Amino acid sequence: RAKRAGGNRVEPFQPAFRSFGTDRLQLETDLRRAVERKELSLVYQPIVRLEDAEVAGFEALMRWEHPKRGNIPPSEFIPIAEASDIIGPLGMFALEQATNDLKAWQRQTGDLPLFVSINLSSVQLLNNELYDDIRALLAKTHCDPHRIKLELTESQVMENPEQARLVLDKLRDAGIGLALDDFGTGYSSLAYLTRFPFDTIKLDKAMVRDDSDKKAVLLRSVISMARELNMRVVAEGIESEEDALELAKIGCTYGQSFIFGPPMGSDSVIRLLKERFPLTRRA
Ligand code: C2E
Ligand code: MG
Ligand code: MG
Ligand code: MG
Repeated sequence: RAKRAGGNRVEPFQPAFRSFGTDRLQLETDLRRAVERKELSLVYQPIVRLEDAEVAGFEALMRWEHPKRGNIPPSEFIPIAEASDIIGPLGMFALEQATNDLKAWQRQTGDLPLFVSINLSSVQLLNNELYDDIRALLAKTHCDPHRIKLELTESQVMENPEQARLVLDKLRDAGIGLALDDFGTGYSSLAYLTRFPFDTIKLDKAMVRDDSDKKAVLLRSVISMARELNMRVVAEGIESEEDALELAKIGCTYGQSFIFGPPMGSDSVIRLLKERFPLTRRA
C-alpha cells in the first residue's frame, strides 16, 4: 500500500493516532488566538439556596466558539490550555470577565449580595503571581473579595499540597471564598481536606444522584460533617424537586443544576435577577 503512489517512493506510515495529535496541535494553535479574537466567553449558572429557592450566586463556566468547529466544550479545551502556557491568559480572562460581569449585575440590581464562583486550574494555583494578580484585579475593579469564590478540585490541590495551602491561606485571609469542587470523585477524606481553608464543598453529581442506601448514608454524613466544620454545601446536578427537598432537609445549603437554571450569558443573568428581585427593578 505504501508503494501505491508509484515508483519506489515510500509514503510515511501514518497510524491513526497521528491525526489525533495533529488535531490537538491545531486546536492548541487556535486556542492561543482565541482570547484576543474574542472567541472565548463566560456563561453563568445559578447557585440556588435550597431552603427558599432564591439565587445566591453563579458559577462562571467558559465557552469557546471555534470559528470553524463551533462550540468546543471546556472538558476538551481546558486540558489543552493546562498542558501549555495558554492557561495563564485564559485563566486571567475568566477572572477579569467574571469580576466585571459581577460588577455590572450589582450596578443594575441595586447591589444584590451575590457571589460569583470561578474555576481555577492547578497551574494557576501554583503560579507565584496568582495572589498578587487577583488582589490587583479586585482593587482595580473595586470588587469586594467576599463576593468572589474560587473553585478547585481535590486532585488539583493534591498536586502540590504544601504550595496549595500557602496560596489558599493567603486568598482566604484576603476574604476570597474557596470551594472544593467535584467532591466525592476523589479519594481523600473530608477530614484531610479540612487542612485547607475551604468554606464550601461542591458535591459532584455522581454523589448527589446515587440512590443506593449506602450512598444516602454517606451523603448525609458528609453534609452533617461539613456543617459542623462550618462549611456550606452545594449539590451539583440535582435531578428532581423531590431530591432538592430531601437535600435541603439533611442540611445541604445550595443546589446547582439544570432544574434550577442552565448556564446563561451575562445579559440573561441581569434579566433573571430583575425578575426574581423585582424591588430592585428601578435600580
Ligand atoms: P465543574 O466546575 O464541575 O462545572 C459544572 C459542570 O456541570 C458544568 O459543565 C455545568 O454545565 C454542568 N452541569 C450543571 N448542572 C448540571 C446538571 O443538572 N446536569 C448535568 N449533567 N450537568 C450539569 P461545563 O460547563 O461543561 O464545564 C465542565 C468543566 O470544565 C467544569 O466542571 C470545570 O471543571 C471546567 N471549566 C469550565 N469553565 C472553566 C474555567 O473557566 N476555568 C477552568 N480552569 N475550568 C473550567
Ligand atoms: Mg466548578
Ligand atoms: Mg463540579
Ligand atoms: Mg470539575
